[in-house]
Amino acid sequence: MTTQLDEKLQPIYQDVLNRNPGEAEFHQAVHEVLESLGPVLSKHPEFADRKIIQRLCEPERQIIFCVPWQDDNGEYQINRAFRVEFNSALGPYKGGLRFHPSVYLGIVKFLGFEQVLKNALTGLPIGGGKGGSDFDPKGKSDSEIMRFCQSMMTELYRYLGEYTDVPAGDIGVGGREIGYLFGQYKRITNRYESGVFTGKGLDWGGSRARKEATGFGTVYFVEEMLKARSDSLDGKTCVVSGSGNVAIYAMEKARDFGAKIVACSDSGGIVVDEKGIDLETVKRIKEVERRRIQAYVEAHPHARYVEGGNIWSVPCQVALPCATQNELNGKDAARLVEQGCIAVAEGANMPTTTEGIRVLQDAGIAYGPGKAANAGGVATSALEMQQNASRDSWTFEYTEKRLHDIMINIHRDCFETAEEFGAPGNYIKGANIHGFLKVGRAMSDMGLI
Ligand code: GLU
Repeated sequence: MTTQLDEKLQPIYQDVLNRNPGEAEFHQAVHEVLESLGPVLSKHPEFADRKIIQRLCEPERQIIFCVPWQDDNGEYQINRAFRVEFNSALGPYKGGLRFHPSVYLGIVKFLGFEQVLKNALTGLPIGGGKGGSDFDPKGKSDSEIMRFCQSMMTELYRYLGEYTDVPAGDIGVGGREIGYLFGQYKRITNRYESGVFTGKGLDWGGSRARKEATGFGTVYFVEEMLKARSDSLDGKTCVVSGSGNVAIYAMEKARDFGAKIVACSDSGGIVVDEKGIDLETVKRIKEVERRRIQAYVEAHPHARYVEGGNIWSVPCQVALPCATQNELNGKDAARLVEQGCIAVAEGANMPTTTEGIRVLQDAGIAYGPGKAANAGGVATSALEMQQNASRDSWTFEYTEKRLHDIMINIHRDCFETAEEFGAPGNYIKGANIHGFLKVGRAMSDMGLI
C-alpha cells in the first residue's frame, strides 16, 4: 500500500487525483515523487509559496488528435495520438513516442512527468514531454507503419521544432518509425531540421551509441551502485526482462562487465539459458526478423522457453526490468529478495509497483529507479542534439565516454542528495529531490509563466 504523504503534500496529491480522474499510472508516478518531497518543502518554503509542485504536476500543453490511415486491405483505420508537453523550464520538451495498444492519456502523462525529472538529472538542457498512440505495430507491414507515421506527423509537425519539442523513440518506435516520421516532417515543413528528432539513422544526423545508450547507461548505473557497496557486476548472475532495444544493450554491457545473463523475455513468455543468453541470436530475432523470443530455442535447443512464464521466478543476483511499467510487483520483489538478489535497476519506466519498491527497499537491496538508471537514453539524445546543432558527428568511443561520465554523475548526484536529505542509500529519494530542485529553481527564476 502507499505510504502517507507530508500534510502539505496531501492536498496537492488530492488535487491531482481530482483533476486527472482514471489515470492510475499518472497518479502512481506523482505519488512516488511527492513521497520524497516532504523534507524539501521544509528547507525551501519559497517553493510552496510559488506553487512549484502544483505547477510541476500540471502539463504545460496536452495535444490529443485523431490519426486516420488505410491498411493494406484498403480498409480505413482510426487511432488516437497524444503529445503531452509537460515542462519546458530546462529546455525544449524532450521525450519519446510510444506505439502500443495500452497507450492512453494516463500513460503518456506518467511518462511525461517522469521524463521531466529524468531529463533534469542528465544535467543537460532539456525539458520533458512524451507522446504516442494506441496504434499497435505488431503484425503490421512496413507500408502500414509508414502510412500511419505519415498521417500522425501530418498533425503533429505543427507542435514540434528543435527549440520547441523534440521527440524520439520508446516502446514500438525505433529507427524505422523515426525515419518515416522525420521524412514527413521534412516534407511538410520544407526544412532539414536535424535537431527536431533524436534516434535518427546514422547516415542522416543520428548519434552513434544512441541505440545502445539506455541499456548501457542502466548497466553503468548498476555498476556504480555496486561500487558504492564495494562490489561489482563481475561474475554475477543477471536476469533482464524484455528483449527490445533497452534489454538487448543492457545484456550486452552487463556481459562486458563479466555478468552472466540467464534469462530474458517478451510479452509472450520467457527464455532461460543457463549457459548464458546468446545475444547475437536475440539481436537477429528481434532486430532483423522481428519475431517472438520463442524462436530463441530453435537455435539453442538446450534453452527453455516458458509461455507466459514469470521472469522474476528465475533466480539472480542482479535484476534489470527493461520491458514496461508495473511488470515487477510486491510478490516478485519478495521472491527476488528470497533468492539472493542484491541489486535492481530499472531500464524501463516505472517497471516496479509501489509495493515492489517498498519490499526491495525494506530488504536493503540496491535499487536504482528508472528516472536515474535509464536516463542514459535521453542523455544521449541530448548529445545527438548537440551534434546536430554544430553539424558534427562524434565517434562511438567519444559518445560512449560522455554517456558513461553522465551516468557516473547521475549516480553521484542521487547518492549525495539522498545523504543530504537524511536517507542514505535511497536512490529514489535522491533522484526525485535532485531532479525536482533543478526544475523547481528554474521555474522559480522564470517567474509565473
Ligand atoms: N523514451 C526514452 C525515455 O524513456 C528516450 C527519450 C528520448 O530520447 O527523448 O527516456
